[in-house]
Parts: sequence; structure tokens; C-alpha cells
Amino acid sequence: MKVVKFGGSSVASGEQISKVVDIVRADSDRRIVVVSAPGKRNASDTKVTDLLIALGTHVLRGEDYGDALDAVVNRYVEIQVAMALPERLGAEVRKDLEDRIAARGDHDAQFMDTMKAAGEDNNAKVIAEAFRAIGTDAEYVDPGEAGMLLSDEFGNAEVLPESYERLAQLRKRDAVVVFPGFFGRTRSGELATFPRGGSDITGAILSAAVKADVYENFTDVDSVYAMDPRLIDRAPAIERMTYREMRELAYAGFGVFHDEAIVPAVHAQIPICIKNTNRPEAPGTLVVPEREVDGAKVAGISSAAGFSSIYVDKYMMNREVGFGRRLLQILADEGISYEHTPSGIDNMSVILHSQQLDGKEAAVLERIQRELEPDSISVEDGLALLMVVGEGMRYAVGMASQATQALADAEVNIEMINQGASEISMMFAVKGADRERALKALGEVFFG
Ligand code: ASP
Repeated sequence: MKVVKFGGSSVASGEQISKVVDIVRADSDRRIVVVSAPGKRNASDTKVTDLLIALGTHVLRGEDYGDALDAVVNRYVEIQVAMALPERLGAEVRKDLEDRIAARGDHDAQFMDTMKAAGEDNNAKVIAEAFRAIGTDAEYVDPGEAGMLLSDEFGNAEVLPESYERLAQLRKRDAVVVFPGFFGRTRSGELATFPRGGSDITGAILSAAVKADVYENFTDVDSVYAMDPRLIDRAPAIERMTYREMRELAYAGFGVFHDEAIVPAVHAQIPICIKNTNRPEAPGTLVVPEREVDGAKVAGISSAAGFSSIYVDKYMMNREVGFGRRLLQILADEGISYEHTPSGIDNMSVILHSQQLDGKEAAVLERIQRELEPDSISVEDGLALLMVVGEGMRYAVGMASQATQALADAEVNIEMINQGASEISMMFAVKGADRERALKALGEVFFG
């Protein structure tokens, strides 16, 4: 049994939804279909979820929302017309939205979740109809009724453990299940959504619950590439990667997949296949628990900008019991999380997302100065992190020297190196301005 999730661009129009229907019909193992709200049809288009947020905002502000409501309804009517589905669908979507608005209580975040969820919910109903229109037995399944129970953190909900047993029952359905992504219900029956992009989470939860053989995630690229193909044209497509490789690459900005979104599938050890709705015959990228390591030692290279480092220097720091703990405690007290803490005998750096310091930097530095009495403290902003990742790196000699030589040749100054304890990744911090040059240099040496 396969759980198949289609992202926003795959269900953005009648033309795209026809491809979805064909893909599901082509493989009788594709029994559970998770759908996003209609996404962008072209670069300048607006996602239905964003249209719904605009609509909800007008309602909350007491403004006229007629046009905003029409904009949402029209997206579904276009799909209905393109696929020659029953005309009543447009009116049903309009009524659904009006009912949600009328049912508004005094909890604004909860109301916004109700509105946002309408994108997936109505799309699932329309897509179930599209299956039936060509003779495939398919049913829309309501996440609340099926047992998708979520915490009551509106807009940022998490699945509750008891959901899995209930959702496992979906295995028994005869018809193809069309399940809207992105939302569920709290224990007290209120609608709640996952964070944005959360339909991936729904797919991962269902895959784990029904113990799917594979979780297929359809998007609009043929596969995951070893690095941004815009930077190096020989970047190979990745056929197979491990969860750990994906996690380390996703951490530093690998766009296709949200690493947190697939946690349930990873825990249940369900393989994940990333495929292209527009070219389903392409093999895609398979993400698996373990893989055999072949010749290629580096699986991928990614990078992310927007990091800062707090550098603290104190003579004889290594002798001072609890220095590191007290430094990190100051950050914890301010509610700041950090990424890495490279240290030397007399110094320690803390690397964190720059936005973590917004509005807190002065207070943090003042406390470090007062409580730890260092010889110097400095903050460097505008750092980028580069990750070189590959299971094969564990067994290879000289990978670090190849990488550092390439960076030296490209005249990139390395601010920090960190070889992960897992030995499947190397991380380099460089100045933001050097990021692209550094990536190209690493790409040349490992994939050139
Ligand atoms: N439609 C939601 C969003 O745009 C969820 C998703 O597509 O995964 O964030």
C-alpha cells in the first residue's frame, strides 16, 4: 500500500488534477491520496491558502470581504469547469466558506485555522469527485472523523499519539481515500492546522499509521539534486539517500523537503519517494533508512545564510569549571536556541540564527560581560553555513582536505569547521558574501 501526497502545484488547476487522477489510477497500490490546497499555477499566481488568509484577515478586521471570497471560490470553479465536474461544486465551496465565517467564535487564531483549512478540505472534496467522474471509486475522508487528533496550538499544531491507532483503520477502506492535508481536530473538536507546508506532515502521519510500503510525495521536480543546479550544471540527481543525509542537507536549506515534516515516516521507517507530477515516469529520489555506499562519497552539498556567531575569549577558560554551561544558560534564559558551539582552550563561539538575537543582543552581551568576565566578546553577523553530506564520507580518507583546499583555491576564508559527530557531514561557516563562490568550489571538487 502506498500513501501518495500531492503538493500545491500538483493540484493547482484542472489540468494538474487530471495528472493526479492518472497517476493514482496507474498503480492500484496507491490507496490513500493526501492533497494540498490549489497552489500557484505560475510564478505570479497566489496560493489558495494565501487567498484564504487574506479573506480571514478581512473578516477579522470587519472589512468588506466579498472580493476576497470570490477570489477563493473562482479557483475551484475554474477547476470544476476545466474538468467538466458537476456545477454545484462552486456553490458548495461558497457555502462552506460562508459557514466557516458565520461560525466564527472569539478565538482569532482558531478562526484563521478554520479558514486556512478550507483550501485543502474543499480541494479533497473536488478531487474525490474528479475520481468518481471517471469511474474510480473514491471517497473524501474528513480528518476529524478519521481520527487526526492535534494539539490545540493553532497554526502550529502537533499530532497526538492516539491518532495513529485510529488512522490505521483507513487501511480497511475499499475506495481510494482522498484525505485533505494540513489540518485535524483537537480533543475538544476544534479545527487546528499544522505549520505552513503541513500537508507533508499529514502524508507522513498517514504513511506511518497504515504502515505504508512507501510514502510517495509528488511535487514539481524530477528528483532532489546533489546541489542547487543553478550553481553547477553537473549536479547529479540523487537516486537514493538516507534519512540522515536528507536531514543534514535539509537543515542547511535543501528546499524540496521539509525535514521536520517527515518525522513520523522516519520513525516508522517508511521509505519516502519524491516524484514529479509532470513526469511521473522519472524515477525520483528515494529516501530510505539505510543505503549501500557506492563510489560517490558526497551525496549532496547545501547552504543556508542568516547566521551569527558570538565569540567569547578568556585566558585560562579551559580551567574554569562551568564556563560553557553558564554561557549557554544566559542564552537559555533569554529563550535563544543555538546551532553549534565550536570551542578552543581559551575561547568559545556560539553559532545561531541571526534572528534569534533580534532585540536581545545588547542584553545577552551585557550579561556575558558581567557574569563571565571574559577578555573579549564579539558578534559577527552575516555568516553562511555550508554542509557537505554523504554516508560514504565515513569510510573515505582526505575529504576534509579536499574541501578545505578547494575553498583555499577559491580564496574563501573559513570561519569555522565542524565535522559532525556522525561523520557523515562536514560543516563550514563562511562570510555571506563568499557563500556562492564557496559552494561552486565545493561543487567543482566533488561533482565536477
Ligand atoms: N496549503 C498549505 C500551505 O500552503 C499546506 C501545504 O500546502 O502543505 O502552507
